[in-house]
Amino acid sequence: MTQTVIIGGGPAGMAAAIAAARRGEETLLVERLDRVGKKLLATGNGRCNLMNRSAPAYPGGEAFARQVLARCGEKELEAFFRSLGLRLRTEDMGRVYPASGQAASVLDALRMALTREGVALRVSCPVQRLEKRGGSLLLSLPEETLRAARVIVAGGGKAQPKLGSDGSCYALLTSMGHTLRRPFPALTQVETDTAPLRGLSGIRVKAEAWVTQKGRELHRTRGEVLFADYGLSGVCVMQLARFAQGREACLHLDLLPALGLESAEECAAELAKRQSRWSDAPLEQLFTGLCVTRLGAALLRRAGVGPLSRPIASLTGEEIKALTALAADFALPVRGVKGFDSAQVTAGGIPWEEFSPDNLTSRLCPGLYAAGEVLDVDGDCGGFNLMFAFASGILAGSDGYLEEVLS
Ligand SMILES: Cc1cc2nc3c(=O)[nH]c(=O)nc-3n(C[C@H](O)[C@H](O)[C@H](O)COP(=O)(O)OP(=O)(O)OC[C@H]3O[C@@H](n4cnc5c(N)ncnc54)[C@H](O)[C@@H]3O)c2cc1C
Repeated sequence: MTQTVIIGGGPAGMAAAIAAARRGEETLLVERLDRVGKKLLATGNGRCNLMNRSAPAYPGGEAFARQVLARCGEKELEAFFRSLGLRLRTEDMGRVYPASGQAASVLDALRMALTREGVALRVSCPVQRLEKRGGSLLLSLPEETLRAARVIVAGGGKAQPKLGSDGSCYALLTSMGHTLRRPFPALTQVETDTAPLRGLSGIRVKAEAWVTQKGRELHRTRGEVLFADYGLSGVCVMQLARFAQGREACLHLDLLPALGLESAEECAAELAKRQSRWSDAPLEQLFTGLCVTRLGAALLRRAGVGPLSRPIASLTGEEIKALTALAADFALPVRGVKGFDSAQVTAGGIPWEEFSPDNLTSRLCPGLYAAGEVLDVDGDCGGFNLMFAFASGILAGSDGYLEEVLS
């Protein structure tokens, strides 16, 4: 019988394996792909934004994430990464990266620690079934059955299955009595009405954005928005995707920051000034110097102000009002969101209420643990998801005995 088996060689599983082995447990890490950490290599555009020093930002499972990070937070994670030989660098908005700027060096450090701590590794080996037998747990692999005293399920959610997380671990946990909250894609692109976006594909702007459903505001954020031929992308929009999946959802952009303007009043005054100063110029030049021509043309077109050859002097007060209102609230009815193939994380999953935040042990089945994205916890962009994966993995692997595994 193996003492501890970890299912899933992602960040949560590797951290759990290193921690368990440091406590002297005979540890086996089982991974369904041909190598561990494939998703980790893709994170942060290949730079791996592995934690964040700001207040926790978890639209899903915030209460649980806070409890986990209160036990294994910034200080403890730094000690853990230091113990792997990994040096870190903090950038804007509290985002932490490896000093090398390479996700590959995080994976190298984790792999070296797995070897050094004596963790046995089995790859190309999906765990297909899990069952309780007497005082231990039985795991069915393609060619054998293993018995373990402790099993940590760290197989991730359903986001980007080509990188390993195919949702198969939900079934392992529900077969042990756990429940499942409907998984849905988060941190993904949003598909909207495309007519108002004609000609805008590829333009990036700073904006404030919010989602409404049947007129009620659900969530608001600000940051970069990228116009695309199917709708919108960019960090700010991806963070809204989890809120934009109900019927009659609408995504709104306040484009005033993109025009360098602070308020609707300032926008109206600026347009009125242009009307008197540039009276002979054609309307197509109205937004010159405020934003790229294509965005200005889209605002004029959508506000029904034209033709573009008309002189700016002919703008009416009503038209200035309409353009200002549109720049402050460029509303786009949502058609859907990009699915798990594009999503960076899964919202929903195995309810965190069924696990202890002290050591991630199941409240339903002794000997069973879960860590990382398989749980119903999802964070904003900025390092929060990897931070939770590492922290929950370390707590599960150490069984809550943190001091023993951080150095
Ligand atoms: C493109 C991209 C960029 C991202 N960038 C960032 C970022 O910069 N910062 C950040 O915080 N987060 C980022 N994320 C999110 C972050 O990568 C995940 O939240 C995190 O990897 C979750 O870790 P995990 O170990 O729980 O699961 P995963 O990383 O998904 O790992 C799960 C592992 O389990 C294996 N597995 C699954 N089922 C089985 C089974 N039945 N048997 C055996 N093995 C199994 C899978 O093959 C996989 O290797 C990004 C995600 C993507 C897709």
